[in-house]
Amino acid sequence: MKIFRTAIIAFIGFAIISGQSCSRNTFPSDSSGQPKNVILLIGDGMGVTQLYAAMSVVKKSLYLESAKFIGFNRTHSWDDYSTDSAAGGTALATGVKTRNGIIGMRADSMSLPNLIELAHRRGLAGGVVSTSSVTHATPAAFVAHNISRNQYEEIATDFLKTMPEVFIGGGYDNFANRRDGANYIPELKEKGYTVVTSVEELLEVDGADRLAGLLAPGHMPAMSDGRGDMLSYASLKAIETLSRNENGYFLMVEASQIDWGGHENNTDYIIREVLDLDRTLGVLLDYAKLNGETLIVVTSDHETGGMALPYGDVHDRSVAAEYTSTGHTGVIVPVFAFGPGADEFTGFYENTDLFKKIKTLLGL
Ligand code: MG
Ligand code: ZN
Repeated sequence: MKIFRTAIIAFIGFAIISGQSCSRNTFPSDSSGQPKNVILLIGDGMGVTQLYAAMSVVKKSLYLESAKFIGFNRTHSWDDYSTDSAAGGTALATGVKTRNGIIGMRADSMSLPNLIELAHRRGLAGGVVSTSSVTHATPAAFVAHNISRNQYEEIATDFLKTMPEVFIGGGYDNFANRRDGANYIPELKEKGYTVVTSVEELLEVDGADRLAGLLAPGHMPAMSDGRGDMLSYASLKAIETLSRNENGYFLMVEASQIDWGGHENNTDYIIREVLDLDRTLGVLLDYAKLNGETLIVVTSDHETGGMALPYGDVHDRSVAAEYTSTGHTGVIVPVFAFGPGADEFTGFYENTDLFKKIKTLLGL
C-alpha cells in the first residue's frame, strides 16, 4: 500500500508526513474568516470516552489533541433523548431535529434540503465518504430523503437524484444487485461517474469529474479485518475530485464503525476505529494546511455504549472499559474545528446549530 500512498499524494500535490506530522501542535492558517471548503468528519458513536480510550493507549498525542477550537453539541432527536444515526445525521445535514429512523425529512415526513443539495444550488460540489455502506444512515442523511433508514435501495436511488460529485464507501449491492432487478452502474456511467469497486481501482482514478467508489458489496471491513488506510485514501480522492469545482465544496467523511464497537461493548474495536479516524484527520490537516481555505470540523452524532473508563494504566498505556448500554446514550459529544471559521465552533450548542454554522460559513 505504500506505493499507492506515494502515488495519490504526488497526484494531489501535497505531502503526507505520516505519523510525524507537524499538524499535531500547530495549525498556522487563520482561524477566523470564511472557508472556501468544509470537511465534516463524523465519528459515529464517538463520545469523549471513546476518544480518551484511544488517547490512553497511544505513545504520542492524537491529531485531535492539537485542536484549539473545541465545543460540545447536544445530540437528542425530535422524539428521543438518545438519537439514532438517522436523526443524528439528519440534524447535522439539514439543521432540523427529526424522529429516530428518518433520513433527510422532518418528523412530519416533509423533505429537507441537505448541505450537499444547498451546496449545489450555489454552484459548489459535494460528497460523502464512509466506512459503512454509503446507503447507511449517516451518509444517507447527507444525500437521501426517506421515512425509513432501512430502505437501502430507495436511498441508493436518491444518490442518482442528488448526484453528489463523489461518494465512496461500501454498498455496491444496493446499486447493482438489487431486489427490484435494477442495475444503476450503467446509469451512473451515463451521468458522468467514474465507477470503481476496489481501493486499488480508486487510487488509479485520474481526473474524474464525478466519482462513485462502491468498494464492498455491503459495509467496508473493520480495521481488524484488513480495511487498511481506505478512509484516508478515499478522503483524499474525494478532495481531489471535489477540488475541480472552483467555487468550493462540502465533504462529509464518516468513521462509521466506532459505533459498532460501542454496540458490541468491544473496547479494542472502538479504539482501532477511533485511531483510524485520527489518522484520517492527520492526512486532512496536512492537506488543509497547504490549501489554506479549508475548514475541518470533527464531531459525532451520539455516544454509543455508555462507555466508562474506571481502570487503566498510564505506564503500560492500557485501559479497561465498562459499559452501561449496548445502544446509544444521550450525552453531549465533542466538536473540534481547524482552519478558517474554526472559532465559530466553541461553546455548547445543538447538533442542528452545527449545520447552521457550516451553512453560513460556506454562504449557502
Ligand atoms: Mg453511521
Ligand atoms: Zn449505533
